[in-house]
Amino acid sequence: MLHLDLHCHSTASDGTCTPEELVFRAKKNSAIMLAITDHDEIKGIVPAKKAAKECGIKLISGVEISVTWNNYTYHVVGLQINENDQKLIKRLHDNRSGRIERAQQIGEKFDKLGIHGAFDGAMKFVTNPELISRKHFGRFLFETGRSSSIGEAFRYYLKTDGPCYVKHEWASLKNAINWIHDAGGVAIVAHPGRYRVSERELNAFLDEFKQLGGTGIEVVTGSHASSQYTQYAKIANYYGFLASVGSDFHSPDESLYDVGLLPELPHNVKPIWLNWL
Ligand code: AMP
Ligand code: MN
Ligand code: MN
Ligand code: MN
Repeated sequence: MLHLDLHCHSTASDGTCTPEELVFRAKKNSAIMLAITDHDEIKGIVPAKKAAKECGIKLISGVEISVTWNNYTYHVVGLQINENDQKLIKRLHDNRSGRIERAQQIGEKFDKLGIHGAFDGAMKFVTNPELISRKHFGRFLFETGRSSSIGEAFRYYLKTDGPCYVKHEWASLKNAINWIHDAGGVAIVAHPGRYRVSERELNAFLDEFKQLGGTGIEVVTGSHASSQYTQYAKIANYYGFLASVGSDFHSPDESLYDVGLLPELPHNVKPIWLNWL
């Protein structure tokens, strides 16, 4: 196992552990390095850094930015950003705006299907009022017995072409990468195996990501089956991307990998964190 994790979520977005709890949990799992990468939000980093100093683990400042590229949502992780960069804080705030209105529209779609109170139900799980995500709806559907799992809630209702999906216009790829660079960080394509786009479309996205100065790609993630590790290792090497790893941990009950505890990367890639130890 690899005791290092560069992608997870706290209560500052749609995770259920506080930033401090994530740090202590990773430490308990013997992790030496952890990045917290909340959706479009970095307010968890300061408390996490404090906790990390206390228990002796290297905390990498991170963020996961929602991006719209060619009409489809992608996620770009920024690592080694300056969490006090006021410009980045403002830019992320703008990218978060509209989430509540979108969630209300999602609630209306559920209403039409006869599932009432979904918006209020999802809100009960929200820990950052500016950051309601589809995950909160998934929790509502699971907890009220309407879906047998959060995964099923996505498959039946919330996925991109599902009946309760509401499209949203996020940051452009160019902006997201520039925001990360302006804040001193490096940009990484999150969970490339999760996008339901053609190979050709994904290649075009990766071409542009490279052209715009992107640095890395997640190879080992909680969103990939182990059979995909070699596939994305090959893609990383083809594009000259550094390889990243991240659990995408959201909650002890919901995640494939525990925070800070992941399978090793394939040996033929260049790990992104080598100079960060
Ligand atoms: P949003 O930013 O509101 O579109 O919600 C995206 C979030 O939903 C992601 O960060 C994941 O946490 C979650 N998500 C997306 N797809 C799935 C899935 N198939 N199963 C569980 N959670 C998912
Ligand atoms: Mn999430
Ligand atoms: Mn993501
Ligand atoms: Mn994530």
